[in-house]
Formats: sequence, structure tokens, C-alpha cells
Amino acid sequence: MSRPAESVVDGSKAQPQQLPAVDRLLRAPEVAPLVAEHGHTLVAGEARALLERLRARARAGELPLAEVAPSALAQSLANAVAARLAPRLKRVLNLTGTVIHTNLGRALLAEPALAHVLAMMAGPNNLEYDLASGGRGDRDSVVEELLCTLTGAEAATVVNNNAAAVLLTIAALARGSEVIVSRGELVEIGGAFRMPDVMAAAGATLVEVGTTNRTHPADYERAITPRTALLMKVHTSNYTVQGFTSSVDEADIARIAHARGLPMATDLGSGALVDMAQWGLPAEPTPQSKIAAGCDVVTFSGDKLLGGPQAGLIVGEKAAIAKIRQFPMKRALRMSKLPLAALEATLRLYLRPERLAQDLPTLRLLTRPAADIAAQAERLLPAVAAAVSPRFAVRVAEALGQIGSGSLPVERLPSAALAIAPLQKKGAGRALDELATALRGLPLPVIGRVKDDELWLDLRGLERDADLTGQLADLQSALT
Ligand SMILES: *Cc1c(COP(=O)(O)O)cnc(C)c1O
Repeated sequence: MSRPAESVVDGSKAQPQQLPAVDRLLRAPEVAPLVAEHGHTLVAGEARALLERLRARARAGELPLAEVAPSALAQSLANAVAARLAPRLKRVLNLTGTVIHTNLGRALLAEPALAHVLAMMAGPNNLEYDLASGGRGDRDSVVEELLCTLTGAEAATVVNNNAAAVLLTIAALARGSEVIVSRGELVEIGGAFRMPDVMAAAGATLVEVGTTNRTHPADYERAITPRTALLMKVHTSNYTVQGFTSSVDEADIARIAHARGLPMATDLGSGALVDMAQWGLPAEPTPQSKIAAGCDVVTFSGDKLLGGPQAGLIVGEKAAIAKIRQFPMKRALRMSKLPLAALEATLRLYLRPERLAQDLPTLRLLTRPAADIAAQAERLLPAVAAAVSPRFAVRVAEALGQIGSGSLPVERLPSAALAIAPLQKKGAGRALDELATALRGLPLPVIGRVKDDELWLDLRGLERDADLTGQLADLQSALT
């Protein structure tokens, strides 16, 4: 008689029937604390999924016996629960060299903005309530006075983001009519925001004037008809046109518009509220200069150079702003109390302009001296080199970063980077991918950029060495 089938079974692998039922696993003494902490619903759901995965591996003869031990099962279950509870939205370390990175959340909020958000979200607040009269208030009044003080505008309103600000402005002032824009300014700002499409979505007809490189005052004058409702200028924030060029500035367009009784709007995109040149950064047009030039409406973002939350700021002449505020679409695009609190606290920092470079984290990063960053790179080099050895070599490289988010596209920020290269030429591409993956897999994921055959960590974005050095042991074990 032949021996039973278990003689051919690999003794180091578990059989499906060695796995417990869900109920038994949940009653195990090792698992009880997990149920006590997180409740039956979550833990039972994860237990069911875990046992299903293990059973499939056992059927395939691929489940090591050690994994079905009660303590191992409890640990796997604890890991599964922890993974389920881990947020998808995580803090990361932005070492890409692009300071205001749209994919990495743009501007960093200042301490007072964080504190104000926390305080205002913790209980009721006077979002739309006038404490003086006890009557209904308008949420715009939280920031309107500040925006008027800072920009010199008569009135202001705010929406969710600048794309919404532009859409709402066009819809409120020119729905069913024509809007005149230079061909040199029909911008696309990342994917879905293209000026001609926004115009169509707002229900206005775009009238293009001039050419890609040259537009003159007479082009605007000739295009005005009884159907015209608005003249508009769009800041070409993410590209420049160089060479044989000519464009009409806001003051001239506003003069042409006003002579025909029409309003004029300008979309600045980034909208720095102070002169960036004072810190050696490239100059960027300010909303106040555009108000002074006679623009009736100026739109700009809250989370680019301004250094606040995602927001669309609309400032300008009283009647135009009133029309925008009263347009029904405003209700759909209005800001929520959460970013509004952050915006208020951020704008208040601008009342103390001398302190901005310390108070605003994004500006603090943008104004870090290149020499400080280079010294930081030298300081961190040995520890990082040790963590990635023996597979990779590290050197300090002079880097050119960017402000980002479409602001000031051409100018570069001198910086320093740790450039990490695989030592083996063979399979170098794969090694670099593995390194980038390991960095992204750290508790505080590190995002760098691949340049030629190296992975660059631009240290302008690293204010605290410990954010990187505290994770080097994890990096080392991920690479071995
Ligand atoms: C960035 C930008 C926008 C869009 O602003 P969001 O706040 O990202 O919606 C619109 N216009 C210009 C010129 C921009 O640079």
C-alpha cells in the first residue's frame, strides 16, 4: 500500500486548513487588544481579507508555516489595520527643487494661519454673522477690508481658487457677450485651465486680437463692438514670448475700455502682494500696481507666491465686484470657512511686510541663501553617503531650482543638491528607480528629481536636517 499524500507535502509550507476561521482569529488572546482598540467592524473586515489572501497562498503551496503561527497572524492583522487607517494624504519632503509645487500642495501655511484654522474649526464662528448688529453677515467681509488695504482696491471678494475667480469674473461681467483678449495671452495653466475653454464655459465669446508675438492698442480699439462686454489681459505666468514682441499694458487697455464705457479685467495668476525683488527674487506684477493702472478687476491665487491656502482673490472697483459677488455662480464657487480662516491669518501677516521672509514658510524657503544650502549639503553628505553605500555614491552638486506653480517661469533659484548615482553602470536605471521608490516609501516620503543618471535631492526644501537624517536608517534597510 502506498503512503498517504502528505509524504509529498513540503513540511515548511502551511495547508489552507491550518488557517483559523475569522471568529477564532478574533478571539485569540493576541488579537483581543486590537479589537478593544479599534472595534469589531474594522478588525473583522481586515481579518476576513487577510485570511482570504493567506488561504490563496496556502492553496498555491506558497505560505510559509511560520506565517500561520498565532503571533504572526496577529502581527499581520495589526499591520493590515494600521495600513487601512493610514491617511492617503501624507506630509512629504519636497526636495524636487521646485518650491511651490502644484503636485505637492503648493504654498506652505504659516503658523498663525494653522493656528487660526484650528481655532475656527473647533467651534461655531461668525462666518456669516455680524457681531456688531447681531444680523446676518457676509463671509467676504472676513477678508475684504484687508484685501482693500493691501491692494488699494475699493472692494474684494473671494472664491475657491483663481481658476474659479477668472470663470466667475467673465461669467458675471460678460456672459452672452464678447470678451477681447490678445492672442499672445491665451494661456493654458496645467491641463484643464485654458483661456478659450474658460471663456466658453463662462458663456462668453472670445474675440482674439493681435498676433502671438505682437498686439497693439489699435487692435483692441478695432475689435470693440456693441457686443463687447469686457476687455481682458492675462498674465503669461508660465511662459515668456521673447524677441520681436509688443503687448499693450493694463493702463492702456483700461483707458481704451473706459473710453467706451467698458470694464477691464486682468488675471495675474500668481499675484505677489509685495515686491519680490527686495529679496533678490525676480519681480512679479502686484495686484496693487494693476489697481493703480486702472484695472476694474484683478484676479490672483492664494496659494502661489502669496503663501496662503488655495483661494481665488478678486479685487477691484465697487460696482464690478458687486456684480461678481451677486452672480449666482458665486454661491457654487464660494470659499469654505477652513481656507477662509487660513487666508485671513495669512493676509494679516502682510500688515508687517518687514517680517514676511520669516513669517511665511514659502517665502522663507525661496529666500534661503544658496551658501547656506551648500553648507547644509556638505554637512549631510557623509550620513547620506553611508546610508546608500555600497550601491550608490553621493556628491554635492550646484543646482538650479524653480519657484514653481507657473510663477516666474524662466528665472532659476541657485541651490545645492545631493546627487546620488548608482556605482554599477549595469542596471543603473533600475537601481535609480529602486532608490527613488525607497525614498518615496519612507515614513516622511522624500521626493527628489532624476537628472541625467542621478537622483537629485535639492536641499532648498529641507529646513530641518533631522527630517532627512532621522530617516536614513530606514532608507538603508530599504536598500538592502
Ligand atoms: C495659476 C494660474 C491660474 C489658476 O489659478 P489656481 O489658483 O491654480 O486655480 C489662472 N491664471 C493664471 C495666469 C495662473 O498663473
